[in-house]
Amino acid sequence: MAEPAYPVLATRTMPPAAAAEAVIADLRARPTETTVRRIEETPARFASWPGETHPDLLAELSRRGIDRPYTHQSLAIEHALAGRSVVVVTPTASGKTLCYNAPVLSTILRDRSARALYLFPTKALAQDQLDELNGLVTALGAEIGAFTYDGDTPADARRAVRTAGHIVLTNPDMLHTAILPHHTKWVQLFESLEFVVLDELHTYRGVLGSHVANVIRRLRRICQFYGSNPTFIFCSATIGNPAELAEALLGDAVEMVDDNGAPQGERVVVVHNPPVVNRELGIRQSALKAGRDIAARLIRAGVQTIVFAPSRIRVELMLTYLRDSLKDKPGEPERIAGYRGGYLPLERRNIERGLRSGDVRCVVATNALELGIDIGGMGASVVVGYPGTLASLWQQFGRAGRRHEGSLSVLVASSNPLDQYVAANPGFIFDRSIENALIDPDNIFVLANHLKCAAFELPFVVGEVFGAHTAEMLELLADEGLIQRSGDRYHWMTEAYPAEQVSLRTASTDNFVIIEQGPRPKVIGECDRPSAPLLIHEDAIYIHRGQQYQVEWLDWDDKKAYVSPVSVDYYTDAQLAVELKVLDSFRAADAPGGRHEMGEVALTFLATIFKKVKLNTHENVGWGKIAIPEETLHTTGYWLGFEDEATKGLKRDELAAGLAGVAHLARNLAPIFCMCDARDIGSEAHVRSTFTGLPTVYLFDNVPGGVGLAEKLFDLRHELAEACLRVLLACDCRDGCPACVGPQVESKSPARKAARQLLEKLTG
Ligand SMILES: [Zn+2]
Repeated sequence: MAEPAYPVLATRTMPPAAAAEAVIADLRARPTETTVRRIEETPARFASWPGETHPDLLAELSRRGIDRPYTHQSLAIEHALAGRSVVVVTPTASGKTLCYNAPVLSTILRDRSARALYLFPTKALAQDQLDELNGLVTALGAEIGAFTYDGDTPADARRAVRTAGHIVLTNPDMLHTAILPHHTKWVQLFESLEFVVLDELHTYRGVLGSHVANVIRRLRRICQFYGSNPTFIFCSATIGNPAELAEALLGDAVEMVDDNGAPQGERVVVVHNPPVVNRELGIRQSALKAGRDIAARLIRAGVQTIVFAPSRIRVELMLTYLRDSLKDKPGEPERIAGYRGGYLPLERRNIERGLRSGDVRCVVATNALELGIDIGGMGASVVVGYPGTLASLWQQFGRAGRRHEGSLSVLVASSNPLDQYVAANPGFIFDRSIENALIDPDNIFVLANHLKCAAFELPFVVGEVFGAHTAEMLELLADEGLIQRSGDRYHWMTEAYPAEQVSLRTASTDNFVIIEQGPRPKVIGECDRPSAPLLIHEDAIYIHRGQQYQVEWLDWDDKKAYVSPVSVDYYTDAQLAVELKVLDSFRAADAPGGRHEMGEVALTFLATIFKKVKLNTHENVGWGKIAIPEETLHTTGYWLGFEDEATKGLKRDELAAGLAGVAHLARNLAPIFCMCDARDIGSEAHVRSTFTGLPTVYLFDNVPGGVGLAEKLFDLRHELAEACLRVLLACDCRDGCPACVGPQVESKSPARKAARQLLEKLTG
């Protein structure tokens, strides 16, 4: 076994603050760049309860030691009880749930016919909130029914939820497919709906947010039909434009409450850039290993730690490496858990419970744990790789933090350009405002689907408005024979049930099931469809909770992967071949050395081969073929073609390297301009595009139909090109490196020089 990266500091528990100082001292002693910021402790600020808060509720809260609300709670409750829709924007653990439970319970305590609908992005969060709510309701001794309604609700219980549920906790997907289309069975709910709560508002951005805005349009349309007009209460983690997002989702004005009155212990935030290990190729120590060293040290010091890794494979690798580095401490490796999409719900609940009780000392997670799932405040949070947005980064940092104790948050930069940009300009993290969350409820692709659902639910009246261009779109549906006009109404004509065909999420919900073979086969996990070709192809090493399995057989049609446990010293990394074709050009503009365009593109993805990568050293030790059908994506793209003038003197391989370099830079910098997630944008480079006939770099929206990112990039094309050139010129490598034009396999690569020429000609 390799020597531990850090000496064992103490066998006893160290307070997080002391452990943080020890980690910082250690990082500073290494030949590397480390930025430290201290965010001061803030004391609590209180206000008084709004007069309408029910006395029984106040008595119960007082029994729990809550005599006064924080300032933000008081204001939010006041708005909600006065019937003003409100958005509450405060950090994790600031007592947000009371902002909605107090007005809702106060209203139902006064009037038992009143109803409320709570929407959470996931089933798990709804379950979490149900437990908390039931505790409060039981203590109040009032007959108030609170139920979850989701895919797991048994058929015989559904009726009771529909009639007796004062508070129904569900998710937008269920509202969309199971509640709104069957509104006639939910008369009690819709007639008396006083409040709609949307927690985790910040998750409703991009495509999902555009869909949810339309689901809310349908909800309000049905409420209006039954004569109710609910007040909306939104809760959000920090984003740049919470009020704008809430108003876009609701289609109406919203009050904003963002002055957090909850106390916060001191936080130390560290940005760590691992040392360069190969100066010529600009390769740094792996972020995974640097993060592992920091986390291992914190765990040894007894600090409960959460580690965020950027992908499922990386979570499992980090878990394996961390357990390995703590092997000398008996019992310790078992107290380190993984947490990601694909684990079974029961496994996840156990880990959450273990984190709250303190039995689990460290969890390695994907952004699946960014959401509001209650795991208590951790002592430290280690984020491996910039997660793509400041909003995500601060949510991940925010998982560490306790009210009366210091906490440590560390970002470990990876080698990619965005990470290196952040590491070189830490002000970006501390001084820049958090990204806006963007939605486009009138996106034709999204709107048309919900218009059909709405027409199924209630006939449209001529002149009724449902998003943009309602009249024209109704005429189109009539032409297709889906609706028919009779008098001043459009009636739904077919047997087809439209909501079932429309998924709110890009990641389709038809998961693959992973089954461990044996005398008694057992389901060990799940895998979403887009990831299946990469993670559970035949002969893949699938790692689940640190245990390796080999995929023996993938039944693509039945969505089942059969696996057997193995113990090998490698993992597999699948390669995806992407083909891009332009279908149509919508906008074009000339540039000095080329041409910018945006339009519709089609992409096909085909998993081709996989590499076997040795654990720890990450060397390539073999490969195999993958045989899985290709997948297609229709979306929008922005592309720039380079004319002869820009490519003059470049040989073919130089041109190819230069284009790949420009694509790498543009793709990694685009999220800053689009204020989107890095994963929302893809890129491709063609030495000769079949559409433009020119050497071309493409950026595309990574979701079906697109969400307007390509359009935004076209609008900001000059700024983007200039930023690419600026980052390239500022990079202190010689021939190209991960921080500018992308990783180069050998020194003396032409990538940097060629990319520079292309960008200089383009920007004039
Ligand atoms: Zn460079």
